[in-house]
Amino acid sequence: MVANSFARSSEMTSRQAKTLDMAHPLIPVPTPETQPYWDGCNQGILRINRCNACNDAYFPPAPICPHCSSTDVKFFDASGEATLYSYTIQQKPPDLWGTQGPRSVALVKLLEGPMLTSSIINCEQTPETLRLDMPLQATFTSFGETTVLCFEPTEEQQ
Ligand SMILES: [Zn+2]
Repeated sequence: MVANSFARSSEMTSRQAKTLDMAHPLIPVPTPETQPYWDGCNQGILRINRCNACNDAYFPPAPICPHCSSTDVKFFDASGEATLYSYTIQQKPPDLWGTQGPRSVALVKLLEGPMLTSSIINCEQTPETLRLDMPLQATFTSFGETTVLCFEPTEEQQ
């Protein structure tokens, strides 16, 4: 009986695996509103929004300012400078990330003000290396067929 239930369970797993041709929910899909951001990633540029009405910079990309609701917004090339605000370390990240771990999931504060979730790469994924408020710079890495934004310690740190 136990063996049967294992057999059923493994059949189900292989059937589910065959239906995973659709995009994984964690794989980003560009939309018309976010396309300039993704184009920036492909060019190695961190491109975020700024509101022309209240001058606030914000992320993620959106056609409406989250602070004053103005639709008078534009994309601009951010400095890529940031600091590490907070983080956690995944010891066993999902297979999707293509690493056995550990892998950082970090809250990064951009020089321009917005905070975003990203990963700190090109350094050891340990609390000794990942220090709060450490200076970071934007870098880009491929994630399947997509180029995604990550951060790395600035040269002075390494
Ligand atoms: Zn605004």
